Amino acid sequence: MTLLKNHHFCSKCVLPNGFLYNRLDENGVCDFCRDSSFSTSNWKKIQITNEMRECALQDWKNTIVTIQNSSKDSYDCIVGYSGGKDSTALLDMLVNELDLKVLALTIDMGLMTEVAKNNIKQTLNRLEYQNHHVLIEDATNTFSKLYKYLFLNHHSHTYALTLTICDYCSDLIHSIMVKEAIIRKIPLIILGYSSDQIKRYFYEIPEKEMRTEWIPDFIRENPFTEEDREWFLTNKDLKNASFPRIILPYHILEYDEASLIKRVTSKGLITQGHTDPVLTNCHVVKAGLMYDLYRYGGIPYALQYAESVRQEEVSKRPRTRKKWLRLYKSVGNAILTGTFAKEGIEMFLSQIGISKNDLLERIERELASDPNRDIIKENIKVLE
Ligand SMILES: [Zn+2]
Repeated sequence: MTLLKNHHFCSKCVLPNGFLYNRLDENGVCDFCRDSSFSTSNWKKIQITNEMRECALQDWKNTIVTIQNSSKDSYDCIVGYSGGKDSTALLDMLVNELDLKVLALTIDMGLMTEVAKNNIKQTLNRLEYQNHHVLIEDATNTFSKLYKYLFLNHHSHTYALTLTICDYCSDLIHSIMVKEAIIRKIPLIILGYSSDQIKRYFYEIPEKEMRTEWIPDFIRENPFTEEDREWFLTNKDLKNASFPRIILPYHILEYDEASLIKRVTSKGLITQGHTDPVLTNCHVVKAGLMYDLYRYGGIPYALQYAESVRQEEVSKRPRTRKKWLRLYKSVGNAILTGTFAKEGIEMFLSQIGISKNDLLERIERELASDPNRDIIKENIKVLE
């Protein structure tokens, strides 16, 4: 009992003991911190060697020079533009520093926050870039069906719902981008995933994965229709020999959150205070986090926060750990008291037609057969 009391969270990162079967040892150190090659279905850190980094950086420089010198009859690249600070800073860098002809592409999943919408308006105004922005809104119904399906059919003891949703949702978003790039004959898609978002990819999304892993089996069945399936990659798309490359430059460029925020706020692209990822993240993720806290006793963000701590310079780690742990606890507590993203979560649940109580009852039923149940309940209590 004393051991548990002292070590609710990994002493090196922020992972809660027992969360998604991640255990702390007698020194309070988690599996990930003890063994850098440790992986689970929820988190697999891609081991990035200096050589990989150098190689990717060289590729980035070559790619930019090549497109800078190419003819300009169509766009150089598509940027996935969500209105968050990362994609806003990326758009600004590509347009103003690298002088590229960029098509900013925003995909509305039906639940974009007002903050994100306003950020987009403000940025496009400031950059005078309104004519090079495309907003795709017609897929919202398909996204809603996808979310509802995933919320109602999640039966795993080990894999968090939020992560499942993020995987399927980002595959769909990427598919829509690839389709747009193929239609417009744009050879490159650039995405602003931060340096700690390396669970699935490092620097580039392999074409093989686009072709083989982006079409979930369940979309062939009810309630999905032909109209829904058209948003995913179709056989016709797959027959296309030239797919665009998708690259993630923040994985190899200097990624410093504070200077990115400074960049977008000092230029007036985003108003100060509107850069917090908790504000710009979609409501689906927020509802997913609530689900996962009640279901697994923790918030999957912890995996990413923990990674941020591990990637920090050794001397700065304790301070960074403190910062993320504080955020983790405050988000966890806000979820339990019902103050976390209350409106957003309610809006989302009503859109997919499930009440919060119904959801909590479903979670209790799932929990009943989970061997990790006691630890889950204990971890929830810590956040109360
Ligand atoms: Zn740890």
